[in-house]
Amino acid sequence: MSAKPRPCPICKKPRSEEFSPFCSSRCKDRDLAQWFNDGYSVPGRPASPEEIVREE
Ligand SMILES: [Zn+2]
Repeated sequence: MSAKPRPCPICKKPRSEEFSPFCSSRCKDRDLAQWFNDGYSVPGRPASPEEIVREE
């Protein structure tokens, strides 16, 4: 077996097939945001309206 399951590069959780290589659309969006904001660093997890909605 050569194919090892890799974790989500954003949060290190097991990734899902639907959002591969990420675990969720949230991490996918987060990665895209980092590309759009080249050099932009995320020190923590800023609460966005989207995340708050998903928490519920
Ligand atoms: Zn993730």
